[in-house]
Amino acid sequence: MTKVKNVNGSSRFESPAGYDTWLDYWEDKSGKTASVCSATDCYTFGRNKLVGAHVQKVNGFDNSWYIVPLCRGCNNRTDEFYVDEVLVPVPSNL
Ligand SMILES: [Zn+2]
Repeated sequence: MTKVKNVNGSSRFESPAGYDTWLDYWEDKSGKTASVCSATDCYTFGRNKLVGAHVQKVNGFDNSWYIVPLCRGCNNRTDEFYVDEVLVPVPSNL
């Protein structure tokens, strides 16, 4: 598990070239299909309820941004929470 927080205002970032959404990007890079919210205390199910959310790791010195599937509710959380999915790095050219 990884403790993360949402990156504020990240919804304004367009998805990378060649991808319709950040969720598509996450699925391609992770090799997985998003089906449930990655937050460990949330059980929202269904790909159409998920977005590819921008998060940062809370602990350590890693300030990089990552994509992880979250439901829209969790994408608006302001607290710190745990996810148990693959964190896919955001392309550094954004
Ligand atoms: Zn959720």
